This record gives sequence, structure tokens and C-alpha cells, in this order.
Amino acid sequence: MSTRRKKIYEGKGKILFEGPEPGTLIQYFKDDTTAFNSEKKAVLEGKGVINNRISEYFMTRLNTIGIQNHFIRRLNLREQLIRELEIIPLQVVVRNAAAGSLSNRFGLPEGQALPRSIIEFYLKDDKLSNPMVTEEHITAFNWANTQEIDDMMALSLRINDFMSGAFGAVGITLIDFKLEFGRLWENDFSRVVLADEISPDTCRLWESQTLEKMDKDRFRRDLGDVIENYTEVARRLGIMKEMPTVIQGGLH
Ligand code: UDP
Repeated sequence: MSTRRKKIYEGKGKILFEGPEPGTLIQYFKDDTTAFNSEKKAVLEGKGVINNRISEYFMTRLNTIGIQNHFIRRLNLREQLIRELEIIPLQVVVRNAAAGSLSNRFGLPEGQALPRSIIEFYLKDDKLSNPMVTEEHITAFNWANTQEIDDMMALSLRINDFMSGAFGAVGITLIDFKLEFGRLWENDFSRVVLADEISPDTCRLWESQTLEKMDKDRFRRDLGDVIENYTEVARRLGIMKEMPTVIQGGLH
């Protein structure tokens, strides 16, 4: 672990360190797992390694289809070099089928297909338990402007198409997921760029035939075999073929 580097920020699942050049950061993936606004915590050995690789996979592939993101390159098992962005304090959730808070709010059975993909915004603020917000709140409080909201929605739908296809091709249904965006400044202009991570911690992924959950709901709902399922997601995507033995040997 990079103890010599200056820590910029420590979140629940990741740490940001100063990067080697101005405008870069190092994103370190921890094994720590939290749910229900940190009421439930655990250390899942090897999780950070898997999420680093799955996130690398999607960020790299999204970049090849023209979706700019903060990922530059993976440095090692747990770290990636990223571009420093001005983070937009919102979580953007894209839903293809009902689950979680949407099912609870509207009484919809989990797994019920939605008439169309739905995008929701939540304020990134743990102290307030990430309340849902509307465009009115976002623009009134200057968290983002209308152009940035449009950009985030358009990018989120393109990302949803790509990810639904990539998962669908390996027998996994993408139920919903969460994205975060930031601003990349070039002189006086900023562009909305995808940030954070894409992993089974931030997506709901159901095995298409059995409807078994392969994501963080296994932890939230005490279903067991969390790492086994994350590893299976990575294996189906064709990454981390060496992973099972590496995990058994212990990773730190
Ligand atoms: N999500 C996330 N981080 C959060 C909240 C939600 O990554 O802080 C993801 C979650 O894993 C799911 C999607 O966003 O894939 C929608 O979550 P939901 O609103 O249903 O909330 P939950 O039921 O997870 O509390």
C-alpha cells in the first residue's frame, strides 16, 4: 500500500492519493464494504482487487466508444491512475428493472421490467443519507447546470446501453447501477466526464437464467458468497482468470 503518498481523501470503499503529476490522482480500492449508510460494515478479502479490475475493464471499453472518463491506467492490483476532476456532488442512478429503493417507494416487485430506463439523481451527502433530488434542486443549489444535467443523462443512457449489452452477452442482467461524474477543466471550459467506479458494488447484476444476485445485495441482504459472485462476474467478462488462486493466497 502506498503509505508514502499523500492521502487526499478517504471514502468508504476507496482512498485517493496524490498522483505522480499535477492533475492526476491514485485511486486505491479497499476491501472495506459498507451498506445502509455505514450501519453495516465488513472487510471482504480481495474485493478491492476485483473491483479495480472490473472498473478498469468498463472504463477502458467505454473510452473506446468515446465516453470520456477519469481512468488513465491501472498501476497494480489495487490502484489505478486517474485524472483529477472537480466532482459533481450527485449520484446518477440508471434503472432498467425495479429493485431496491424504487421497489420500496412504488411497491413494485423486484425484477419487474420498467417501461423505459429511468434516471434518478441523489445528492452525494452521507450525513443526509443521500436524498433524492430533482433538476430543480440541482440547478437552484448550483450542484450542476442544465447543460451538465443533459450531458449526464445522455452519457448515462449510452453507458447503460453499452453495459447492458456487455453483461447480457455473458448471461448477466443489468438491473440498475450508479454513476458519478466530474468536470474536466480545459482553460475556461469544463466538460462532464465519468468518474468513480463501475463494479458489483455499484450495480445490481442478476444471473439471467437463475435470477441469482451477483452484486452487493449479497452483502446487504446476508446472502453469502459475496466474493465468489464478484469473481464470477469478472470471470464471465473474461478478466482476472488468475483471480481465484490469487485470492486464496491472500491479498494485501
Ligand atoms: N448505489 C450505489 N451507491 C449508493 C446508493 C446506490 O452504488 O450510495 C447503487 C446500488 O448498488 C444500485 C443502484 O445504485 O445498483 C440503485 O440503488 P437504490 O436506489 O435501489 O438503493 P439501495 O436499495 O441500494 O439502497
